[in-house]
Amino acid sequence: MAGKAKPKKHTAKELASKAAAALTNKGGGKSGKADRLGGAAGHAKFKCPVCAQGAPSEKTAVAHWDSKHAKLPFVFADWTDAHAASGGVTTQGAAVKGGKEKTVHELQKTAAGRAELARRQAEKERIANLQF
Ligand SMILES: [Zn+2]
Repeated sequence: MAGKAKPKKHTAKELASKAAAALTNKGGGKSGKADRLGGAAGHAKFKCPVCAQGAPSEKTAVAHWDSKHAKLPFVFADWTDAHAASGGVTTQGAAVKGGKEKTVHELQKTAAGRAELARRQAEKERIANLQF
């Protein structure tokens, strides 16, 4: 769906169902079950390299990419596997949304926050420099 200049509008219901789909692990089969046991609250396995939105599977990752970053090439290898990052088998707490997002002002107070701001800035520049 690349090249559509018209901004898309979303209903609250659509956004809520997307958020629910992204924050809940819907993986099937034996490995999916093992994953789901890792976090009672549910979690997303993959993390978008652009906006850090969670996605429970490669399929939902592709759907997210199509709707949010269709102008960029989809490279699944760039997605963070939150399960692997948190130790592989167990997925406790991975990508469950917790608390409210810190403001820029709050982030500037800590070294970790400043590192995060620098990372966001670098990411913005990287995206700005991409050729469409
Ligand atoms: Zn994204």
